[in-house]
Amino acid sequence: MAVLIDKFGRAITDLRISVTDRCNYKCVYCRTGNDGAIYAELPWADYLRMARIFTELGIRKVRITGGEPLLRKGVVEFVRELAKLRTHDGEPLDLAITTNGHLLADLAQPLKDAGLNRVTVSMDAVDPQTFARITRVPNGFQEVLAGIRAASRAGLKPVKVNCVLLRGFNDDQIPAFGRFARDEDVVVRFIEFMPLEEDRVWSPEIVVRLEEILQRMAAFRPMVEIPRHPSETARRYCFDDGVGEIGIIAPVSHPFCGHCSRVRLTSDGKIRTCLFSIWDHDLAGVMRRGATNEQLREFIVGVIGRKEARHHIGESDFVAPSRTMVHIGG
Ligand code: SAM
Repeated sequence: MAVLIDKFGRAITDLRISVTDRCNYKCVYCRTGNDGAIYAELPWADYLRMARIFTELGIRKVRITGGEPLLRKGVVEFVRELAKLRTHDGEPLDLAITTNGHLLADLAQPLKDAGLNRVTVSMDAVDPQTFARITRVPNGFQEVLAGIRAASRAGLKPVKVNCVLLRGFNDDQIPAFGRFARDEDVVVRFIEFMPLEEDRVWSPEIVVRLEEILQRMAAFRPMVEIPRHPSETARRYCFDDGVGEIGIIAPVSHPFCGHCSRVRLTSDGKIRTCLFSIWDHDLAGVMRRGATNEQLREFIVGVIGRKEARHHIGESDFVAPSRTMVHIGG
């Protein structure tokens, strides 16, 4: 059976492809105010060839990300082409997009029709003013809400809504997100802030950790943990009456590296085996030099063999990667 296994025995089944590092938002925990993309964007055909080779090697899930992937013209066609690929054992791929939702209202149905299965929308506050303060975009909230609702209508379910919590910025939004999950029938997922931002403002004190999120949500309504697959990054909870789901992704306080099934491709075609990798591996370069599919497969297998055991956030030997989240692809 074709599967990518790293030296720690982890099966790599989940590929994230960043298709641009441009973004129309400037979230305080992610980007500085600069507008410029730093890294190149490849032609769609290159990402497609890479995705095909990865699927031959055992990838089952492909998530399109960025930067903001919906900024890139041709993304719907790209999804249509990805939807034609099959896993090594003949199954359709599980196709998802992570987006800030700003352009989603018009694209949700075309993306669904092209073969997209699911969407994750980043929304860091349900209060429009807090939202504007975090994203540094004055009137984005209504667009994003419209995008979330359009995704639900199009059947891109379950729609997941990601919220990075920052102490002093949006941690007061926890109960309101509980209500939002129930009212809008979406899965709200809180993410612990990781040191991957351009402004280098991360400190352990700003991180709102899993236990505190649980405690503060319980004041809104009690939650019960739901069983999950070990490779799922989010711990899952439902409210005591069964209405509404909350996830908590806790890479800082409860790292899940031991079950990591992910590999990332940056917009300029570099493979990253961990968000916190110090190195990247130039798949696009190898391709440009005329490698055959077999040579590309060998390159990928070699790279996966060097996947890191774990991240070192909060430890004295931690080194922040030179590429920040927006330039890797979340
Ligand atoms: N533009 C898209 C979006 O907003 O979802 C996709 C790219 S964004 C980099 C992917 C995800 O990474 C988002 O959910 C975002 O909130 C999250 N993210 C960005 N910087 C982060 C950080 N420093 N710590 C934790 N999550 C972060």
